[in-house]
Amino acid sequence: MSHRGKDFTSIIQKTEADFRSLLGVGEEYDVTFLQGGGTGMFAGVPMNLSGGSSGTPAYLSTGTWTIKAIKEAKKYCSPATVASIDLKEDASAKSFLDRASWSLPSSAPYFYYCANETIGGLEVSRDHIGNLGETPVVCDMSSNIMSRPVDVSKFGAIYAGAQKNMGPAGLTVLVLRKDLKGKAMPITPSVMDWTVMGDAKSVLNTPPTYAIYMAGLVYDWVKEHGGVAGMEEASKRKSALLYNALDKSDFYSTIVPEATGLRSRMNVTFTTPSADLDAKFVAEATAKGMIALKGHRTVGGLRASLYNAVSEDSVAALVDFMTAFEQQNSQ
Ligand code: PMP
Repeated sequence: MSHRGKDFTSIIQKTEADFRSLLGVGEEYDVTFLQGGGTGMFAGVPMNLSGGSSGTPAYLSTGTWTIKAIKEAKKYCSPATVASIDLKEDASAKSFLDRASWSLPSSAPYFYYCANETIGGLEVSRDHIGNLGETPVVCDMSSNIMSRPVDVSKFGAIYAGAQKNMGPAGLTVLVLRKDLKGKAMPITPSVMDWTVMGDAKSVLNTPPTYAIYMAGLVYDWVKEHGGVAGMEEASKRKSALLYNALDKSDFYSTIVPEATGLRSRMNVTFTTPSADLDAKFVAEATAKGMIALKGHRTVGGLRASLYNAVSEDSVAALVDFMTAFEQQNSQ
């Protein structure tokens, strides 16, 4: 099947149309299917929007994925970190979201943040960022896209790797306000140039056809389950079930305290009283078919990812297992 033939053209057009209708993306935005993942976008954002070495985009640093984005941006421009939070040092600090304390560069070509820090389990909403006037807001939604409604009109650009909530790995979706086109640095490779790729309707070269087809099927499934609003309701129920169980236990501790108001609905991070018990927890859960509960290798502990594909029954089974594990392992 040719990627320019009529069969695939109708697949990619339907996939784009469904993505637009699910997230409410208007005609003033391009929706482009790219490759390179979130990491590709850490370079793609500054290449396309910073204006080059003298550009000083603003970055809100909330954890691993923004730290990596800032490091990559430094190859192309001069990013300024307006505020940062280190979950390991000071998880309770909400003050980093206090706009008055931010050191915003005077002429930032964009303001960048990550909507959900997948490793730490910290979710920041567009409302936390507030009004930034003409400065376009760029957001990495890789790990929470389609889990809650988004007011797209408040963003200059949104991107997300598909592999959490939208389909298999290999596809990156970009939403770009059209007035931000035409600003790429001359060194930008064509496949990373958002204007070139957008104008070519995602088929400048062979796109990740199978991942696009699968994402289209996922969008059908999301529509059948109440759209993004339905995903949000389920996500609220799933995360509440788990956080409630964690909060009423003296055995488990959450990494992100309730009081911050920043707990992720997608990635629930927690620990048992010791690293040894964390390891025992993972081993016993795995034996019961509950997989991928080990915290990210850089932070340790435990992490339950509650992406759209995770059923409420699965979360209930995890909570039952956690209760039994606590009883067996409490002194
Ligand atoms: N941003 C976020 C929020 C992520 O969770 C990830 C991957 N887990 C990335 C970026 C990097 O994505 P990729 O592996 O597709 O490069």
